Amino acid sequence: MGIKVCKFGGTSMADGRIICRAADIVRMDAERRYVVVSAPGKRFSGDIKVTDLLYKCSDAVESGDMDTFRQTFDKIRVRFLNIQNEIGKDVGVQAGLDEVEKQMLAGAGRDYCASRGEFFAARIMAAVLDVPFVDATEFIRFDKNGVLDPITFELGAKVLSAYDMAVIPGFYGLGADGKVKTFSRGGGDISGSIVARSVMASLYENWTDVSGFYACDPRIVDSPKWIAELTYQELRELSYMGANVLHSESIFPVRSAGIPIRICNTFRPDEAGTYIVKKSTRDMREVVVTGVAGKKGFTSITLEKSMMNSEVGFVQKVLAIIGKHAISFEHLPSGIDTMSLVIDNEFLKDGILQELMDEMTEAVHPDKIYAHENIALVATVGHGMAKNVGTSARLFKALSEAGINVNMIDQGSSELNIIVGVEGDDCAACIQAIYNEFFY
Ligand code: ASP
Repeated sequence: MGIKVCKFGGTSMADGRIICRAADIVRMDAERRYVVVSAPGKRFSGDIKVTDLLYKCSDAVESGDMDTFRQTFDKIRVRFLNIQNEIGKDVGVQAGLDEVEKQMLAGAGRDYCASRGEFFAARIMAAVLDVPFVDATEFIRFDKNGVLDPITFELGAKVLSAYDMAVIPGFYGLGADGKVKTFSRGGGDISGSIVARSVMASLYENWTDVSGFYACDPRIVDSPKWIAELTYQELRELSYMGANVLHSESIFPVRSAGIPIRICNTFRPDEAGTYIVKKSTRDMREVVVTGVAGKKGFTSITLEKSMMNSEVGFVQKVLAIIGKHAISFEHLPSGIDTMSLVIDNEFLKDGILQELMDEMTEAVHPDKIYAHENIALVATVGHGMAKNVGTSARLFKALSEAGINVNMIDQGSSELNIIVGVEGDDCAACIQAIYNEFFY
């Protein structure tokens, strides 16, 4: 019998009734033995996630705004007490939250504060299922650089093998300083993947509020095609580009062990969902493109210089400058006498762009240097592209017919994706045009 690890996201933990429904899903299959949960998410549009309330509390303590702290902490208290009432079991929420409040006021770190949503959610789910709670700090470890320590999997295997079933809070582990440390937002998906890898699960089920991946964002194209199967690589490309059903880093733990992921809908548990696998079972002559996704918020810096191709060390000097500022780049398209760096705008706040360009000018004396500050990247992804002649011709014809100006092209060397840089405002139209070309 295989082992399935189930991870329930915030909307699947939003209130007591939904948590009981999630617990029913676990009970339906004896192979579902380890359960990872997120903090309660939004119950309705305009609602606030518990994690957001916790961050707000932490910020209020930091700035000494005690009124905001009390009001916000009360909301968290009411939220968890309601859930406790709805499940009809006392899991010690009142006393537990008193302790958390004390810790927060005593200056417990931001990560500790944020992690408490998952902590109580897991206590609640463990009570509903009547199985042990295992804290993530017992095995999820970060090294001194804040990177996941590989010892995690060994520890996880050891700790979890002591339990037939267990509920584990997502989103956090233990830092090298002995304090609670969280992953980035949405990181509960990574925790689920870590647990799956630790117990060498046969399947990692990620239960959420959508029935899997669609070939593009349903906010851009009406009822896009649903994707039955994706490879890890395709998923990585699409989720990096903004298809945010699953945290983009959550494939790493399961990928090396070849554990498949299934995205399933807590509110429609009978639907098949999307399977994410190591090797595709699809006939690639039939599926040219798997999905299209895009993301705004990039800047390109372009340098032009005659004979750049024969100038030894040119690119190296440019990259050293961004490295010095601890900035990474997303893409590096280049020509004989030009190179561009595409950088996430997150790195370019507070006038740093001009500083970078000045330093580059001084270091490599380009003939021309200029920036384009409002770029969107749109990725067309699919293993099938390599097997089907003329894919890029179709793509660029579709974009030109839609009147979209492409200012950067980057085709990954694995022929898994074609990324185009377009004007930020053209992002949706670009996705729409590519979708229409390959899916209608
Ligand atoms: N609760 C965390 C967040 O809102 C982590 C998660 O839900 O996966 O980001």
